[in-house]
Amino acid sequence: MNKLGIFMNFWEKNWDADHEKYIRKASKIGFDVLEFQAQPLLEMSDEKIRSLKAIADEVGIELTYSLGLDRNYDVSSLDENVRKGGVEYLQNIIRKMHVGGGTLLSGVSYAGWGTPDNFKGDKRPYWEQSIKSMKEIIKVAEECGVTYCVEAVNRFETCLINTAKEALAYSNEIDSPNIGVLLDTYHMNIEENNIGDAIRLVGDKLTSFHTGENNRTAPGRGHLDWDEIFGALSEIGYKNRIVCEPFVMEGGEVGRDIHVYRDLIDNPTEERIDEEAAYLLEFERNMLKKWNMA
Ligand code: MN
Repeated sequence: MNKLGIFMNFWEKNWDADHEKYIRKASKIGFDVLEFQAQPLLEMSDEKIRSLKAIADEVGIELTYSLGLDRNYDVSSLDENVRKGGVEYLQNIIRKMHVGGGTLLSGVSYAGWGTPDNFKGDKRPYWEQSIKSMKEIIKVAEECGVTYCVEAVNRFETCLINTAKEALAYSNEIDSPNIGVLLDTYHMNIEENNIGDAIRLVGDKLTSFHTGENNRTAPGRGHLDWDEIFGALSEIGYKNRIVCEPFVMEGGEVGRDIHVYRDLIDNPTEERIDEEAAYLLEFERNMLKKWNMA
């Protein structure tokens, strides 16, 4: 069965939090993977990172990473100083991931998160800058054994890569065994004509997958067609991780950055979120069984 994961900020309103607590919680609920923001790694000692890895190993959790790149480190910037600083920043994150045995990075990690300041409407120059940067970044990913997943996200979060087709074109330009594509059902719902076709287009280049409803609640709570989604994953023989990335609480850094301005489940106490996590895990396991992926 595909490894099933959960993103730590389902529970936490700030990007950094008590990682150990959530490693243990994810394991207890029954997940195989815990994903969290990669940036806090830069603030952690190597010893701390190794101790989190040891705890994760002990409870059978794989740690994967995601990021929304700070615009101060925009690797698609037309300002060469910003671009070069961004390359170094991402290379350092990859090296820190490697300290803890991490092998997978996703998110808006090919450009600053959001539309560039002073954007005139032509994304081509930013694309070229990002490609130039990624060719340097990917060398470190290759050395560290990290798969760099290019995540297609909706138009309000980047101008560079909104669709499966664009993510595929980008990864083909980089041409490395360490670059791949990540599709996320929430973003695909906004940008793709047909979600199944987008999954089939990427095919064996699909290195990770994020789930979430049309409004970023847990799978099964909104109106996405999960049979279409898991049917297409089954059709391409998808064997990699499936990480659920719901955001259901207003407030904090996460509510601000993800634009969650109301609670999307009633009374979201920690216990209630635990129950919702258990529910979505069961939902995804059932989908895998239904589509012969178990
Ligand atoms: Mn995602």
